[in-house]
Amino acid sequence: MTLAALSTAFSCLKAVMNMKKFLATGQAGDGREKALLDYVLRTAEKGNPLSVLNAMDTYAKTSSWLMNIGDDKGPILDKALQKYNPRAVLEIGTFCGYSAVRIASQLLKEGSKLLSFEMSPDNSNIARQIIEHAGLSSKVDVVEGKFNEHLDVAKQFLEEMNSPHFDFVFLDHWKVYYMSDYLLLKENAMVGNGSGICADNMGALVGPADFRKYLKKHAEELETCEHKSNAEYLSWFPDSVTVSTFKLPTQL
Ligand code: MG
Repeated sequence: MTLAALSTAFSCLKAVMNMKKFLATGQAGDGREKALLDYVLRTAEKGNPLSVLNAMDTYAKTSSWLMNIGDDKGPILDKALQKYNPRAVLEIGTFCGYSAVRIASQLLKEGSKLLSFEMSPDNSNIARQIIEHAGLSSKVDVVEGKFNEHLDVAKQFLEEMNSPHFDFVFLDHWKVYYMSDYLLLKENAMVGNGSGICADNMGALVGPADFRKYLKKHAEELETCEHKSNAEYLSWFPDSVTVSTFKLPTQL
């Protein structure tokens, strides 16, 4: 392992060791998220999403590890977006806006938009400024709060979009909520026939066991492909991204 890789691993460990605070606040506790914002504003070209993503990847590799989907797994998300070509998109877990920039920069359909939930007020603020710097503010609404406590916001978004459901959902928040939030989406008909559901951090070692099991057992409801890769900025640690198509039961 190179010195740079070791340093990134140590930086990840530092965040994980502070897990209680990390889970409660969504931040690593050492100011890395605010430092990321400063770095992006200082180094990335304004109005250039790719430059913003590159700056975020560089910061995570050279300064402090971040829980972005990152540049190894990012292309899996890109391919899924190309496949579904969505108009109404939901993200749960904005963090600092990396995937929001990645998603919004690839929304090609007329009137397409991303609604992104972030539980941390500080992260929401950082994400909004990073998205603004990328020139994508008109394509993204960052909502401060947990998805399961703000279903009304998601319903209103769909109403305003004149869309019966989300065409694409990206799950990238705390893993214990993947299963219950998916069920909320299904029960509230916020996903429809053909909707894409992409989930990060689904690797066997760290992924949510209940949602992994659900995907395996309900192939008729969620036609899933698991893309194996590695955890963000940690090339030695296996992880995967799942891409599922939601299927409504066939009426007999
Ligand atoms: Mg993730």
